[in-house]
This record gives sequence, structure tokens and C-alpha cells, in this order.
Amino acid sequence: MRFDVMTLFPELIEAAASSSVLGRARERGIVEINAVNIRDYTEDKHNNVDDYPYGGGSGMVMQCQPVYDCYRAVVGDAEQKPHTIYMSPKGKPLTQARARELSKLSRAVILCGHYEGVDQRVLDEIVDEEISIGDYVLTGGELPACVLIDCISRMIDGVLSGKDSYINESHYNGLLEYPQYTRPEVWHDHPVPEVLLSGHHANIEKWREEQSKMLTRRLRTDLIENKNER
Ligand code: SAM
Repeated sequence: MRFDVMTLFPELIEAAASSSVLGRARERGIVEINAVNIRDYTEDKHNNVDDYPYGGGSGMVMQCQPVYDCYRAVVGDAEQKPHTIYMSPKGKPLTQARARELSKLSRAVILCGHYEGVDQRVLDEIVDEEISIGDYVLTGGELPACVLIDCISRMIDGVLSGKDSYINESHYNGLLEYPQYTRPEVWHDHPVPEVLLSGHHANIEKWREEQSKMLTRRLRTDLIENKNER
């Protein structure tokens, strides 16, 4: 899958895209992540990309011209308009289910805002979907874009060692994951639950399922309610 990220801070995207699992997936050509600097497209002689908001108010607003010209350059002469996402606290909250749907796309363009946000007119023209990573406000869309790319990428075939790596995890099936343990068998007088040492796969599966349900009921009753409504 190819991600084109329109941003004023490509180095933030580059840092996440070149590290750890994402970095390896990128090296192996499973995902392509291009960070494109919106400022390179401004026609302003002082290199500005933002201006005061009409109607007054604090902060600055990113202007249509550089965002649109950057978008045109990114899209090029693609036959099909790539799905274009604006990272925004006003968007729909990101879920595992939505990320999974997006992982089936071959390409996505992601727009990161900064300052007070982006002129609504260019958003209306290019954006298909607004996604929020939570009900709080960050300085810019770069960290949210990295969250989105990471979450989508790990569900693309070949990025993790196998499907099992993510289908048993929290949120994939609407539940939280069971607790995990590794060596040593006893740590600070706390032993690992015996069933995990038994080698009995059916019992281990059963224990994990029970733990998963119990944890979800205790920590996130809203997930159980949502699951029942589905
Ligand atoms: N004035 C905007 C508002 O009240 O909705 C907030 C602008 S915020 C300071 C600057 C940029 O950060 C936004 O344009 C968006 O791209 C990004 N951003 C901030 N919080 C976000 C969140 N929770 N999810 C996704 N993007 C976010």
C-alpha cells in the first residue's frame, strides 16, 4: 500500500516511517510512505503557507493554494482519485475496524493540518474522510498520521510475521487481549499462571478467552455493549 502524506513537517513522518516494523516493511517494499512538504508548493514570496482567519480569532489557518497544489502534484495523473484523509479532531474516531477496511486500499493520501487547521474550501474539494485519533487536540496532524499508518500497515499481509500477530490482539474482535507472560517462570514471587506451562493447547485457548472476556468486562464495558449491539 502506498501512503502519501502532505505535511509541513516531513521529518516527523520520516522518523516513524523509517523505524521498527514500519521501517522494515518499507525496506521490503510492502508499504511505500512518501512525506511531501506542503511548503514546497507555496507561491508566497516569503514562503508562507498560512494566513489570519477571516472573522478574527486566534491563530493562523493553512491556505488553499499550497495545500491544493501539493495535492495535485501528489495525485499527478492517477486515473482514480486516491482516497484522501484529513487528520482532524473533528473526524470520526479511528477504530481497528476502520483501519482494517483502509488496509485493503492500494493507496491513500493523508493531509496533516497545523496551526488552527486548514481552509475549509480546500478540504471540501479534496478530502473524502476525516479521521480523529481521539477526543483531544494535538499541535499538528503528523503524529495522528503516523498512528493511522502504523495501525493500517500492521494488518497488511507480510508486515507482521503472520495474521495471528494481530487477530488475537485487543480490539480486533471487539475484546481486549488476555494477559501475556514470558520468562522467568517466577518473578518477585509471582508465578506465571499454571495453565500456560501445561502445554495443553485447548486449555490455554479456553483460559485466554475467559481472561479476555473478564478483562474487557472489567476495563471496557462499552466494548461489550457495542459487541452485543452488532
Ligand atoms: N482548531 C482545530 C479544532 O479546534 O478542531 C484544531 C487544530 S489542531 C491545533 C492542528 C491540526 O492538528 C489539525 O488540523 C489536525 O490535522 C491535527 N490534529 C489535532 N488533534 C488531532 C486529533 N485528535 N486527531 C487527528 N488530528 C488532529
